[in-house]
Amino acid sequence: MAKVLIVEDEPDLSDPIRAFLTHEHHLVEVVDNGLEALERLRFYKFDVIILDWMLPGLQGVEVCKQYRASGGSTPILMLTARRQTQEKVLALDAGADDYLTKPFDVYEVSARVRALLRRPAAVSSNLLKVRNIVLETSTFRVTRNDEEVQLLPKEFALLEFLMRHPNQVFSAEALLDRVWASDSEASPETIRTYVKRLRQKIDTNGQPSIISTVHGVGYKLES
Ligand code: CA
Repeated sequence: MAKVLIVEDEPDLSDPIRAFLTHEHHLVEVVDNGLEALERLRFYKFDVIILDWMLPGLQGVEVCKQYRASGGSTPILMLTARRQTQEKVLALDAGADDYLTKPFDVYEVSARVRALLRRPAAVSSNLLKVRNIVLETSTFRVTRNDEEVQLLPKEFALLEFLMRHPNQVFSAEALLDRVWASDSEASPETIRTYVKRLRQKIDTNGQPSIISTVHGVGYKLES
């Protein structure tokens, strides 16, 4: 079973998709405008998002961008009436994983959803574990040696990103791009501060830090 969010304002389109996916034992929720979609995604975790381009409130492509900028990693299937290559490129660049052009068949929607669910577990998993640290995205919990660690939302987001990309080095600028909102006023100094605070909260005394500094380059989380 997958938890699917459909963002579509036309019931003529969302109803058949909802019915078909529900019949396939998925848990399906529908919202009918872009702002509500972002709100829902901020508080709840889905396995796949089916996102229409034309939406009241906020266009689908903007929803996609803002969701990715806030660290959201759930696969997105974009629905579009636009056949031009440029629009498809815009959708993919905004962070969509796939797109379908209207009109489409519910069988095809279902097949695309299955394909997106086959993505590597490391990308879509709710539970991340590195050494003695466990991070659960669905409940916003982090534990060290089974004891809960209290993190601020941004500390959590930074740790989640690093845990999803273990042993890869990221510059402070790259972390700002990937973890902070695009209109954020944060600077590389912000990243240094957050890394320092994260180390204080999650490292084990007497052991090397789980987040190492690669001098002149950036940071990486050692698995
Ligand atoms: Ca629409």
